[in-house]
Amino acid sequence: MYNISAAQGDANTESGSRIFLYEVVGLRQSEETDNRRYPIRQSGSVFLKVPYHRMSQEMQRLTRLGSKIVSIRPLNADDEANGKATVVAAKSEVNAKAPAEDKLNVPPEIAPPEDEVKSTKLAPKSKPMTQAKSKTDIPVNIYRPNAPFVGKCISNEELVREGGIGTCRHVKFDISGSDLRYLEGQSIGIIPPGTDKNGKPQKLRLYSIASTRHGDDLNDQTVSLCVRQLEYKHPETGEMVQGVCSTHICHLQPGDEIKISGPTGKEMLLPEDPNANIIMMATGTGIAPFRAYLWRMFKETHEDYKFNGLAWLIFGVATTPNILYKQELEELQEKFPNNFRLSYAISREQKNQEGGRMYIQQRCQELAEDLWSLIEQEKTHTYICGLKGMEGGIDEALSGAAATKGVNWADYQKEIRRAGRWHVETY
Ligand SMILES: Cc1cc2nc3c(=O)[nH]c(=O)nc-3n(C[C@H](O)[C@H](O)[C@H](O)COP(=O)(O)OP(=O)(O)OC[C@H]3O[C@@H](n4cnc5c(N)ncnc54)[C@H](O)[C@@H]3O)c2cc1C
Repeated sequence: MYNISAAQGDANTESGSRIFLYEVVGLRQSEETDNRRYPIRQSGSVFLKVPYHRMSQEMQRLTRLGSKIVSIRPLNADDEANGKATVVAAKSEVNAKAPAEDKLNVPPEIAPPEDEVKSTKLAPKSKPMTQAKSKTDIPVNIYRPNAPFVGKCISNEELVREGGIGTCRHVKFDISGSDLRYLEGQSIGIIPPGTDKNGKPQKLRLYSIASTRHGDDLNDQTVSLCVRQLEYKHPETGEMVQGVCSTHICHLQPGDEIKISGPTGKEMLLPEDPNANIIMMATGTGIAPFRAYLWRMFKETHEDYKFNGLAWLIFGVATTPNILYKQELEELQEKFPNNFRLSYAISREQKNQEGGRMYIQQRCQELAEDLWSLIEQEKTHTYICGLKGMEGGIDEALSGAAATKGVNWADYQKEIRRAGRWHVETY
C-alpha cells in the first residue's frame, strides 16, 4: 500500500530536515567562491552547512569546483556556537548568490518564525532550486516544417484493449541518419501527405513525444508517439469524420515513411533536480509526456540523474481498457511503491461522491489534501496534459484544499507558474 509519509521525499523525514557539516579543502578563492561568501580559512578548509536532501547535489558541485570533502557530520550546537559553518551551501547554480534563502530547510532551533516561513512559501520570488533545464540547452526546430526529416515507421501497436472506446496507437519511428534529438516533454510535428480542402499541402500537427530522449530501444535512434485516431460525427451532416493526420499515423505500417519536424516545446520539461516531486495529471493521450518522464525516472539508468523524489500520476480515462500503458504503469508502481504513486479516474466505471461519473477533477478533489501538501513544497512541479479544459476542474479541487490552509489558490498558482513549477499543455 502506498505510504505518503514515506514517499514525500527526504525533506519530510527526520534525516531530511537535518543539516550536515561538510569540511572542504581545495576550494580556491575565486569569483565564484566570493559570490557564495565561502569563508576560505588560512588552512584552506571551508565548513559548509548542507541540508540532507541536497547532499549528493552539493557533492557533485564541490567536485566540479575541484575541491575535496574531508569530512561530513551532523551539525551540532557547538558548531553553531563556535561560528563554524556560518555558510549554508548554495541552493543550486541558479540560486548560488542567495544562501540565506535556505530557511525552509533548517532545523527548528535556527528556523525563522512560522509566519516568515509562510510568506516565503507563498511568495517564491526567486527561482526555485528545481528549475527546469536551462533553456539554452533545449533542442528546438532542428527540422523545420518546410524541410522535414523523412523517417520510417518501425512499429505501430494498439493501446486500447478489448471493450475500450476508440483507437489509440503507440507508434515508433526510426530517426537514425537524422540530427533529430529531443528531451522528455517536447513534441514533434508530423506532416500528413496530401492537400487540404483548399488544395494546399497539409499543415503539420503536433504530437507529444512518448519516449525518453534515448528512445524505446535506448539507442538514441527512435522517437515514439501515442496517437488517438480522431473520429467524430459531423454536427450538421451526421457523417462520421476522421481526423487527417491522426488517421494517417494510426494506419502506418512498418517501413512506411513519415515527415517529421521539430522538436518543439519548453513548457513540459522535467526539472534536473532528481529529488523534485513530480505531479502528473493526464487525460487520454495526455499520458504521452508522462510515459517519457516515468521511463526516464524508473526504467533507464543514468549517471547524472537518479530520480529520488515522488512521482504521482493521476490518469483520467473513460473505461479500464482505455488505460493506456496500463501494465507498464502498474509494474512501475509495484516496483517503486515509495517513489511512484498511481491514481486513476475511470469516468464510465467509477462514481464520484455525488454518485456521478468520476472525472479527473473529482479524483483530484478527493486527493486534494495530499496534492496540496506536495504542491506547497518548493521542490514540487505539477504537470497537466491532455484534454483542453481539464485545468478548470483541477483548479477548483485545489482551491478548496488551499483555502483550508488560508491560501488563495489563484494567487498561489500565479506564483508557482512564474517560478516554473506549474506546467500545462492541453489541446
Ligand atoms: C502540443 C500538442 C501536443 C499534442 N499531442 C498529442 C498526442 O500526444 N496525441 C494525440 O493523439 N494528439 C495530440 N495532439 C493533437 C494533434 O495535434 C491533432 O490535433 C489531432 O491528432 C487531430 O488532428 P487530425 O489531423 O487527425 O484532425 P483534423 O483533420 O485536423 O481535424 C481536427 C478538426 O476537426 C474538428 N473537430 C474535432 N473534433 C470535433 C467534434 N467532436 N465535433 C466537431 N468538429 C470536430 C475541429 O475543427 C478540429 O480542428 C497534440 C496537440 C498539441 C497542440
